[in-house]
Amino acid sequence: MRKVVKFGGSSLASAEQFKKVGEIIHADKERKFVIPSAPGKRNADDTKVTDMLYACYDLAEAGKDFKAELQAIKDRYQEIIDGLKLKLSLEDEFKTIEKNFKQKAGPDYAASRGEYLNGIIMANFLGYEFVDAAEVVLFDEDGEFSAEVTNDKLKARLENVDAAVIPGFYGAFADGKVKTFSRGGSDITGSIVARAVKANVYENWTDVSGFLIADPRIIYKPAGIETITYKELRELAYMGASVLHEDAIFPVRREGIPINIRNTNAPEDNGTWIVESTCQKSKYVITGIAGKKGFCAVNIDKDMMNSEIGFGRKVLQAFEENGISFEHVPSGIDTMTVFVHQDEFMHKEQQVVSAIHRLADPDHIDIEGDFALIAVVGRGMKSTRGTAGRIFSALAHANVNVKMIDQGSSELNIIIGVSNADFETAIKAVYDIFVLMQI
Ligand code: ASP
Repeated sequence: MRKVVKFGGSSLASAEQFKKVGEIIHADKERKFVIPSAPGKRNADDTKVTDMLYACYDLAEAGKDFKAELQAIKDRYQEIIDGLKLKLSLEDEFKTIEKNFKQKAGPDYAASRGEYLNGIIMANFLGYEFVDAAEVVLFDEDGEFSAEVTNDKLKARLENVDAAVIPGFYGAFADGKVKTFSRGGSDITGSIVARAVKANVYENWTDVSGFLIADPRIIYKPAGIETITYKELRELAYMGASVLHEDAIFPVRREGIPINIRNTNAPEDNGTWIVESTCQKSKYVITGIAGKKGFCAVNIDKDMMNSEIGFGRKVLQAFEENGISFEHVPSGIDTMTVFVHQDEFMHKEQQVVSAIHRLADPDHIDIEGDFALIAVVGRGMKSTRGTAGRIFSALAHANVNVKMIDQGSSELNIIIGVSNADFETAIKAVYDIFVLMQI
């Protein structure tokens, strides 16, 4: 039995935080593979080391002096090394980094040094082997992550390794040139390593005790989510809920490895379990609520639309031709509505309208902006009667006009369209009815 444990930047921002992490790792012998992020913010006004590295490299690339900026980064690491009383010098590493910056090694290389150096410190601190991610996490020539090649390489490399630290966030092309994932990508590395070593759990340690049912900026102290399925998480993440990098789900999901989101500052909390499937009922009918503002509804009318084969395809082709992805397409007998992101659509709306006319010959097109979409997600909805009814009566009581309803056939979620101005009120109303009143 072995666990892969990933620690986010705020969990490793200082020597104090490193000590907490050390205690967590030593508290469980199964915590064998550790994925560190770069040091994050120590307080609200602080700067993440990754951002310092990007800024420092910008200067290097512009041919400007970057000594002071590199020194500030060095100081951040030295503070951690001193605080942990380690006999470790990063002097040579920084010489190499300086040389590579001068030779314009690229922003990906620059940013990756945050995790790389933190990995060296972590390995020294724990007495674990250090495995450079550039040797085991690989990208193809198009910059796409090579999942299978990586899995084989990692498996072989870690086969006889008892305990190792593998820095998050980056890997390399076949020629060794460093490439990073998108921001927050250490989550992905953790998942990749968990798959390769067939871990029994992937623990993702951060600064919150798991997912919350709703956004705490809208709901005061929302309840936490104990267990969530990958599918539910995808729905919520898509609608803006974020704790974990979206791409971190795929490697472990295919192996059925659960993810446990934990809080480094409150290790006694169970956090949230992300699982493939569960017979555990969630405490409430709904698992979570998330939403986004800024959508536009394009309403298309045409008499006898229902019997015209290919109408929907032609309409969607008009969006495709203009490079616009659609979110939802609720339809009636003679109407069809396409929901799109307002900021993407705005500049191209007239091209899209004329393309719809050209391709589908509708009777009338009407565009309405400033919509918000809210996803009410829950595996419990399938087996509970009247969920939709309760949502809509709660919204009616809160004086929210519902402009669109879309329930996926999986009965995993209900999407509601309201005006931007009603967004917060609508989320509160749904939260109250299911969580506060528990009905
Ligand atoms: N350090 C990187 C970032 O700030 C990656 C990560 O923390 O996961 O985005």
